[in-house]
Amino acid sequence: MTMFDRARRRTSRTAEALRLVSVSKVYGTGDGAVTALDGVTLSLPTGSFTAVMGPSGSGKSTLLQCAAGLDRPDRGQILVDGEEMRGGSEAELTKFRRDRIGFVFQQYNLLPTLTVEENASLPLRLAGRKADRESIRAVLTQVGLGERLGHLPDELSGGQRQRVAIARALVTRPAVIFADEPTGALDTRSARDVLSLLRETVRVHGSTVVLVTHDPVAASYADSVLFLADGRLAGRLSAPTAEAVAERMTHLGDEAAGRRADNGPLMGV
Ligand code: ADP
Repeated sequence: MTMFDRARRRTSRTAEALRLVSVSKVYGTGDGAVTALDGVTLSLPTGSFTAVMGPSGSGKSTLLQCAAGLDRPDRGQILVDGEEMRGGSEAELTKFRRDRIGFVFQQYNLLPTLTVEENASLPLRLAGRKADRESIRAVLTQVGLGERLGHLPDELSGGQRQRVAIARALVTRPAVIFADEPTGALDTRSARDVLSLLRETVRVHGSTVVLVTHDPVAASYADSVLFLADGRLAGRLSAPTAEAVAERMTHLGDEAAGRRADNGPLMGV
């Protein structure tokens, strides 16, 4: 892809990076069936940084897996950058994912025999797109690894490895980057650096980031936090502080119980 194509791609981006409409997912059947997601509707604007929080078992991973096209919902619609993710073949879903979605995982998922530069360019190679050396190096410089292009993952700290993973997510200029507990394996300082870097990619490059975390401090780096309980949206917090997030988490069980009693869907998120 040329610089021109990239600019066009960016300017043609829709205002809504991600939309879920009544998305449900049930695991198992009969008495053993578990409703992991129960009619989730939400909309995330392009250029937003959103954290998803909720107690263990509330459906965070399932939400991420479905929204990112790694798993298929049983019901509902998912639109990424205005395009519906359809339940076509596995190959179609993979292509959809490669073209529009970036991932950052807790355990980095770097290939140990590839250098920093090779790891970062991998998604472009897999997508059959030209890995333009200059732009890959520019992204690696931006994440602070311009001096380590030839290093292997083993030769890097945890924080540096996660920055390679962020660069790898950025090189395809995805419509949405999903970060699944990206600081779970890091010390406090590296975690802060990684979260600041994610926030910077949103501010400076207009990326859209969805951060799944159980850590209120990590969530406080986002513009807003969505809370999940029992597979449903159970609230939203804008401009969150770690204290406000922690407080909300403490009461989440009560709120979810109250909402179940009302039986009303949460609109506008
Ligand atoms: P979280 O990420 O918030 O901990 P999950 O999305 O992992 O929540 O799980 C939501 C619910 O779905 C839980 O009750 C969990 O036990 C169930 N679940 C998740 N994955 C599976 C699976 N592959 N098979 C059966 N049940 C599952």
